[in-house]
Amino acid sequence: MTLMKSWVDSANSPDTDFPLNNLPYGVFDDGQGARMGVAIGDFVLDLGKVDHGLDAGLLAQPSWNAVMEAGAGVWAALRDRLTQLLGDETHRDAVAPHLIPLDRVRLLMPFRVTEYTDFYAAKNHAFNVGTMFRGPENALTPNWLSVPIGYNGRASSIVVSGTPVQRPWGQVKRADEDLPRFDRSARFDLELEMGAIVGKPSQGMVSVAEADEMIFGYVLLNDWSARDIQAWEYQPLGPFQSKATATTISPWIVTRAALEPFRKSTPQRERPLLPYLHEPGPMLYDIALEVTLAPEGKDETVISRTNYDQMYYSAAQQLCHHTSSGCPMRVGDLLGSGTISGTDEGSRGSLLELSWGGKTPVTLDSGEQRSFLEDGDTLTLRGHAQGDGYRVGFGACSGKLLPAADLPGWAQG
Ligand code: CA
Repeated sequence: MTLMKSWVDSANSPDTDFPLNNLPYGVFDDGQGARMGVAIGDFVLDLGKVDHGLDAGLLAQPSWNAVMEAGAGVWAALRDRLTQLLGDETHRDAVAPHLIPLDRVRLLMPFRVTEYTDFYAAKNHAFNVGTMFRGPENALTPNWLSVPIGYNGRASSIVVSGTPVQRPWGQVKRADEDLPRFDRSARFDLELEMGAIVGKPSQGMVSVAEADEMIFGYVLLNDWSARDIQAWEYQPLGPFQSKATATTISPWIVTRAALEPFRKSTPQRERPLLPYLHEPGPMLYDIALEVTLAPEGKDETVISRTNYDQMYYSAAQQLCHHTSSGCPMRVGDLLGSGTISGTDEGSRGSLLELSWGGKTPVTLDSGEQRSFLEDGDTLTLRGHAQGDGYRVGFGACSGKLLPAADLPGWAQG
């Protein structure tokens, strides 16, 4: 796990998210149209302009779906070729003219999301939320230690980092009122998650090992959540409108190949898993994660630090379970890990937990307090795997909360 040297100087810094070891894939626009790129140091390489060795059409689109569909042989060939182009000095003259500074481009959705499923797979988060919603005795539902809990979400509301999110309206019922009202969500929240991107389709059930091979890469994911809407609507079928406003992902797909040196095992099982969910090897990754909150016009405060290794179920286990009914998976399927919370108070992945349902507000560096998000707040997730003198990072996953829209007259009463 040592740094691979690049002739792009900024890629050799111990602090960059994008050394040669990483090579994350994105889609950018420098004012001349959306194109596919790979991040290296402080730059994005315009892939359509270099001798990448693949069929030209594969890298001449505004999404990575076609490369994913081309299969694992193409994934490996492209990574090998880019490692040569950006590592070997002899390619410098041909490649350097096609490096564009990252601060001069806008980053777009890196792939077309075909479907979105969100899980609930970090035990500390499930226990914390369950305690608040149902009390400590019933915090973990009887199924939780056996089955990766999830729900089928909406691909249509996935947005890329930098996209503003508008506070939703919804049906809520206050504790001191008998009937629900239609109101602005007053308990709008973030959820710190990782997203796994399916790069290979399936028909029928696949094993955990096969599921792992189907994953093309990972992104950071903020699953914005309206807790007041959720509390009223979630029984008996689970969340619906509370999770449908927006889900933000980071703009760079960090490939499974780049994360390979950072594999880590899931924790000791508290109840034996059914055989189909057994893992043949380490399926989690050691990825340090943090969340910051910046009020309008103010500096950001770190409100949470945790690690992806806190998951009880890996993405491979979740994907295996997802296919167990025969559900076909498609290229571009996105799986949210579920909110990632560690064991101590500063490692919780949502304001619901950090403020314990609003009872212990979080104090920001500006002196302001937050139980839930205020209009104008910007939330940013960051994450990286730490190597020896280098890091494999994800870039920022950021979104600003805008005030709720005006309600149309016909919806007022
Ligand atoms: Ca979620």
